[in-house]
Amino acid sequence: MPTAARVCVLPQEPGPLSVMDLALPDPGPHQVVIKQFASGVCHSQLHQIHNPRETPVLLGHESTGIVLKTGNNVTTVAEGDTVLVTWVPKDARSTGRRPAPSSIELPDGTMAVARNAFTWADHTIVDELFAVKVANDIDREVTAIVGCAVMTGAGAVEKTAGVRSGDSVAIFGVGGVGLSAVVAASHIGAHPIIAIDLDEEKLQFARQFGATHTINANETDPVEAIRALTVRDGELTSRREAVAGADFVFDCIGTKQTMEQIAPAARTGYFGAERGGTAVLVGVPQTTVELSAIDMLTNEKRFIGSYGGSCSPEKDFPRFLDWHASGKLDLNKLVTCRYEIEDINEAIHALEHGEIAGRAILVFD
Ligand SMILES: [Zn+2]
Repeated sequence: MPTAARVCVLPQEPGPLSVMDLALPDPGPHQVVIKQFASGVCHSQLHQIHNPRETPVLLGHESTGIVLKTGNNVTTVAEGDTVLVTWVPKDARSTGRRPAPSSIELPDGTMAVARNAFTWADHTIVDELFAVKVANDIDREVTAIVGCAVMTGAGAVEKTAGVRSGDSVAIFGVGGVGLSAVVAASHIGAHPIIAIDLDEEKLQFARQFGATHTINANETDPVEAIRALTVRDGELTSRREAVAGADFVFDCIGTKQTMEQIAPAARTGYFGAERGGTAVLVGVPQTTVELSAIDMLTNEKRFIGSYGGSCSPEKDFPRFLDWHASGKLDLNKLVTCRYEIEDINEAIHALEHGEIAGRAILVFD
């Protein structure tokens, strides 16, 4: 029997999303139908909204919900399980199966398709590899942001970069992803933890999560400011410049400008004595970048990508939920705005205009 669902649909032609009453089909062999409590609203969906598309599109890729129905071959979740929905498939190595993206037929007969899962809906249908079973007694709303924001930000620091106690860290962009990176760096004992953004309110908010220094890139050149905060007295590079820069510099935005700032802001190295710092791209880029090859070479710097924070959802999500339960990661503080599904276009507008400190969520029911 189909499941009634209210779903945000992005039309093929440019324009606002519509909220439609649709029927979700019964789950295919590897699919599950989930009643959702809340979903995050993430920056990468803005890119999808602005890019051309060949069909109507279903959006959203992080949520908390409960499994209503399972397909015949589903083995990892059962009806009644509480799950977090994400866009990184769980058990990616062991199953040997690629998850199928979700799609739904619209009343006019066209198919609306998702890139992987979709969560801007009160009910969703997804491949079981995108649904991670978690404890039933978790907070049902604020945990919705674990499936992208927390995974991407905290994972980039912990797993991709492997930041260690005492390392210096700079983080460009302190929205939901960047703040999760700040929290992870703070737990590890990184110092300093430098937050860079264009908005003073967001920078002050980042201090509440563990940022030790803030730089407003509207007022100051962030590369110079990071280097000034991390300069090592009396140490010179092979080119007789002061050794300066952060050990790890994270770009949680992914614009051409920020991508071209993170490598220059990474620490300079010195022959075999010390490798240079690492620039870590976390935000989803829309352009290519230019790097100074001589800076990368002579200072032994690295520029690496972090996709979904190098996380394994089935292993890492329970850990992030423990962080929340123990107060290490206060998701109640990180979630700053709640919207009803009917207000999705308002939420997108606010996100686009930098009005959301932390992360916004859609709350269903
Ligand atoms: Zn996301």
